[in-house]
Amino acid sequence: MRDISTHIHPQTNLALHETLGPTIMMRGEGAYVYDDDGKQYLEGMSGLWCAALGMSEKRLADVATRQLNTLPYYQNFAHRSTEPAIELAERLLKVAPVAMSKVLFQSSGSEANDTAIKLVWYYFHAKGQTQKRKIITRHRGYHGTSIASASLTGLPHLHRDFNLPLDGFLHVTCPHFYREGLPGETEEAFSTRLAEELDQLIVAQGPETVGAFFAEPVMGTGGVIVPPADYFEKIQTVLRKHDVLLVADEVITGFGRTGNWWGSQTYAMKPDIVTCAKALTAAYMPLSALLISERVYQGMRAQSEKIGVFGHGYTYGAHPVACAVGVEALRIYEEDGIIDNVPALAARMQAAMAPLADHPLIGEVRGVGLMWAVELVRDKQSKEAFAPDMQFGLGVQNRAFERGLVCRSLGTGIALAPPLICTEEQIDEIVARFTQALNASL
Ligand code: PLP
Repeated sequence: MRDISTHIHPQTNLALHETLGPTIMMRGEGAYVYDDDGKQYLEGMSGLWCAALGMSEKRLADVATRQLNTLPYYQNFAHRSTEPAIELAERLLKVAPVAMSKVLFQSSGSEANDTAIKLVWYYFHAKGQTQKRKIITRHRGYHGTSIASASLTGLPHLHRDFNLPLDGFLHVTCPHFYREGLPGETEEAFSTRLAEELDQLIVAQGPETVGAFFAEPVMGTGGVIVPPADYFEKIQTVLRKHDVLLVADEVITGFGRTGNWWGSQTYAMKPDIVTCAKALTAAYMPLSALLISERVYQGMRAQSEKIGVFGHGYTYGAHPVACAVGVEALRIYEEDGIIDNVPALAARMQAAMAPLADHPLIGEVRGVGLMWAVELVRDKQSKEAFAPDMQFGLGVQNRAFERGLVCRSLGTGIALAPPLICTEEQIDEIVARFTQALNASL
């Protein structure tokens, strides 16, 4: 009641919330969370794809407490810095997927992507190509919900009635082979077709007006869309041809989620800018970062000299407590072999998920590393989805929740993204409970 009368929940049917109210989570332990009745849930989504180290990593709590007791805040504008920010930047540059020069810290994934848009514009201003402002992304991509990052996002319900996307944000076909591939088309031919579509769009708009292409290595919120064979290779050939920058949105895929440190490594992407957040601190503090290539940095440097200042920044950018937690999270990923262990867990997840392909409600099982989804269909043959697509998935999600499993309905798909610290037995249990929820939905 207190929640309903006071608290607005994002990404929620607000009227329905007034009827249903919230489940109030009280505490966490490893891969489990507990509600106010003491009921236990397996956190099959790592919160919102972020709590990679589970819910009770004491080293992260301790390092935050130490930093809070030493220097709880300092700003990083104009010639001020802190030790945790410096150390985290050094560590990020060491593990970056391609050679990167500098790191810029913000607080959320949306902020990082907003900032990346501005850096693309700033960079091309430095080069005297002030028209190179248009940004291309994919339908069903998710890049955040601020005005500019929501414009990058390719999900209609995040645009409708907000007058979005802004002008100059263009969307191309989602690389979902199961839904978008033509009859008889191979994955490679599908990738070629999508690269041609991108090429034609850039040519039609005028390459001198297109600044960047933003892409998640694996689309998360759009339904865990794993790119088809050769996709990024072909896309990057087009981008290079037209001098269009590539921004890899690694907000979900950064820090082991796909089995390597970065999704860019898994899919041979060579980005000019990487944005990351979520698992950067394993979600124990809000923090995001942009990894910036030398050529983009040189443009920023030149432009800031011309103007007298790099006119951008947030009060909480490079927050020292968040950065201290980030340093510790990266240490744990490395020293405890957390990321090295993902391929083994991924193999277990794949083996557990594979039989679901035969389930009468499922048209496709897809995933990589520890991000997976099933495609719900009314008819396996015709691939017809349930309508309205969200509702059926939400029913399955609720049945899973009743059985002590957190999963996430995403349009026609339902996602599972367990914490990287979960055990093989917990993976089996996640898939078992998920299967029970599906069976109960028949
Ligand atoms: N980019 C991706 C790929 C995301 O999945 C998200 C959030 O889920 C964002 C950006 C936005 O991050 P935030 O919610 O921290 O603003």
